[in-house]
Amino acid sequence: MKGPTMRTYASVPFPDVTITGAFWHERLEVVLTRTIPSQLKMLEKHDIRGSIKLPKPVPPLTIPRRKGGFTVQMFWDSDIGKWIEAASYALRHRRDAAIEAEVEAMIDDLEAAQAEDGYLNCFYQQREPENRWTNLRDNHEMYNAGHLLEGAVAYYQATGKDRFLRVMERNMDHIARTFGRGEGQRPGYPGHQEIELALIRAFHATGQQKFLDLATYFIDERGSREPEHYFDTEAKARGDDPADYFFAASGMYEYSQSHLPVREQTKVVGHAVRAMYMYAAMADLAAEHGDAALKAACETLWADVIERRMYVTGGFGPSEHNEGFTADYDLPNDTAYCETCASVAMVFWAARMLNLDLDGQYADLLELALYNNSLAGLSRDGESYFYDNKLDSDGSHHRWAWHMCPCCTMNVSRLVASVAGYFYGLAETEIAVHLYGGSETRLPVAGGHVTLTETSDYPWNGAVRIAVAPEGCGDFTLSLRIPGWCEGASARVNGQAVPMTVERGYLKIARSWSEGDVVELDLPMEARRSYAHPAVRADIGRVALRRGPLVYCAEERDQKAPVHSLRLPREAALSARHVPDLIGGVTVIEAEARAARAEGWGPDLYRPAPPEEAPSPLLAVPYYAWCNRGANPMLVWLRE
Ligand SMILES: [Zn+2]
Repeated sequence: MKGPTMRTYASVPFPDVTITGAFWHERLEVVLTRTIPSQLKMLEKHDIRGSIKLPKPVPPLTIPRRKGGFTVQMFWDSDIGKWIEAASYALRHRRDAAIEAEVEAMIDDLEAAQAEDGYLNCFYQQREPENRWTNLRDNHEMYNAGHLLEGAVAYYQATGKDRFLRVMERNMDHIARTFGRGEGQRPGYPGHQEIELALIRAFHATGQQKFLDLATYFIDERGSREPEHYFDTEAKARGDDPADYFFAASGMYEYSQSHLPVREQTKVVGHAVRAMYMYAAMADLAAEHGDAALKAACETLWADVIERRMYVTGGFGPSEHNEGFTADYDLPNDTAYCETCASVAMVFWAARMLNLDLDGQYADLLELALYNNSLAGLSRDGESYFYDNKLDSDGSHHRWAWHMCPCCTMNVSRLVASVAGYFYGLAETEIAVHLYGGSETRLPVAGGHVTLTETSDYPWNGAVRIAVAPEGCGDFTLSLRIPGWCEGASARVNGQAVPMTVERGYLKIARSWSEGDVVELDLPMEARRSYAHPAVRADIGRVALRRGPLVYCAEERDQKAPVHSLRLPREAALSARHVPDLIGGVTVIEAEARAARAEGWGPDLYRPAPPEEAPSPLLAVPYYAWCNRGANPMLVWLRE
C-alpha cells in the first residue's frame, strides 16, 4: 500500500511532451542518431558488451586491478544498464528494429548469466563467485544492479516487454532476502548509492510495494552504528582492517555519505555522484511516505550545496581525490573535477525537490546544471565527452572519445534523450511550466484535458508564447516559472497585461481558460556579470559572464590575446549577438577587455612594475559549447 504522499506535483513523462524548439531538438537528434549508436560500438570495442556473455575461458582483465583488488571493470554491468536505458528512451521517440534486437540480445545474455537464486553481477559471477556481497563499500554490486534495473524499467515502458524487468525483479528479490534487519539477513546497503532511485522508479512503473520497501530500507539503514558500521563489519569478515581504507583520511565514511543516518546529515560531503543520487532518492521517499524529517534533511543539504559548494556552471565536487566535495567555498577552477554525472544527478534531485515543493530555486538549479555543466559533457557532434568539467584550462584539457570509466557518457545521453520530462509539472488543477524552449503537450487537468503549445527561441531569446487549448476542463492555474536570473519579466494573456504576482519563482495565472487563449511571457535576457562570495579564494577579483540560463567562457581562439592575460573592467559594456554559423549557432557576449602585454617585458620573471595593458576585444561563448573546435585555453572567471 502506498503511504500518505507529500508530493504535490508529478513530473510529466518525456513521451508526453514533444520538443519543437531548435535548441533541444538539435541536441536530441544528435543523441538519438549519433551518440546512442556510437556508444554501442564503444561498448563492443572496449569488451564491455562481450563481458555479459560470461565468456569462457575467462579472459584476462582489460583494466588491471589496483591495490585492494579494485578495478573499474567491476562496473561494466552499469554501463550496459545505462545504455539500455538510453536506447529505450530512443525507442520511445521512434521504434527501431536494430536497436530493439540489440537490447533483446543483451537481455538474453543477462538472463542466461543470472544465478539460480537471482544474483546477477557478471564480474563476480565470472571471476570470483565466492566473494559476492563481501565488499559493498567498494565494489559497486548494488550500483550495477540499480542501473540494470533502471534499464529494465525504461525498456518495459518503451516496449511493453517485461522479460528484463522480471530478470531484475528476481535480482531485487534476492537482494531483499539477503539484506535487511530480519532473521538471517545482513544489515548492508550500497557503497555507491543508485539502486534506491532505481527501486523507486520500479515502484512507480509496477506499483509493487516491495521495490519501495527495499529503497526505504537502504535509506533508513545508511549510517547506522547498531551494533557497528556495516562497512566495518564486512571489512573484518574479509580479514581487513576497516581503518585501512583509501578515504579514511578525508573522514572515514563521509566519502559514501554513510557517516551518519541520512536524516542527521547537514553537510554535503564525499563523492558527489553518490551524494546527488542519494539526495534524489531521499526527496522521492519524503514524497512517498510524507516523511517531514527526510524532506527537512533534503532542504538543509540543498542550502549547504547552493550556498557554499557549487560552481557557477552548476558543477559539483572540486576534488579529484574523492571525486567530490571538500570544504566550504573551496571551488578551484583549473583543478575543478565537476564530474558530468554529478550535474546530471543534480538535475534528478532538483526535479524531485520541485515535485515536493514548487519553488523556483529548484528549477533555477535544474536549469543551471542542465544547460551548463551537464551539456558540456557532450560534444556538438555527439561522439566525445568530458568526464571532469574545468572552469580554467591551459589548453591541455579536452574531450575523450571514450573513458576508462564511461559512466558520464551514457548519463548525458539518457538525460538528453529524456529532457522533455523536465519541462512540466502537474497537479490536479494546476500546470507548472518549469522550462521553456519549444514544446507541445496534452495534459489531464481539472477534469478534462488541455493542450499547451509553447514556442520560443529559448535559451537565446526570452520571448515565450504559450497557446492554451482546453477540452472539457474547469478552471485551472497555469504557473509559469520566472527564472531567478531574470529581471523585469512581464506577461500578457490575450494581449492584456497580467499583474506580476510571482510566488516563489512562479507567476500563477488562475482563470477559466478557453480555446484560442494565448499567454505571452517576456523574460528579458541581458548579458550580465556574476561575482562569487568573497570567501571563494579562486574567484576573488574575478567576474563571470551569463546570459539567460547560460554561463559563458572565453576560449583563446576567439581572442586577440592569450585568454589568461585578459582583464574585463567593471565599466566595460557587454553586448550580445547571435552568430548562426558559430558552433551550430550561439549567442556570444562581447566587450572591450584589456590585455596584459608580454611584448617589451624582456627576460625578467619579476619586475617592480606591472605589465602594460592594451585594449583587446573579448568574445565569450556559452560554456556548454566550449572545446568543439579543438583544444585551446579557456577561462570562465575573468580577472576584473
Ligand atoms: Zn561519470
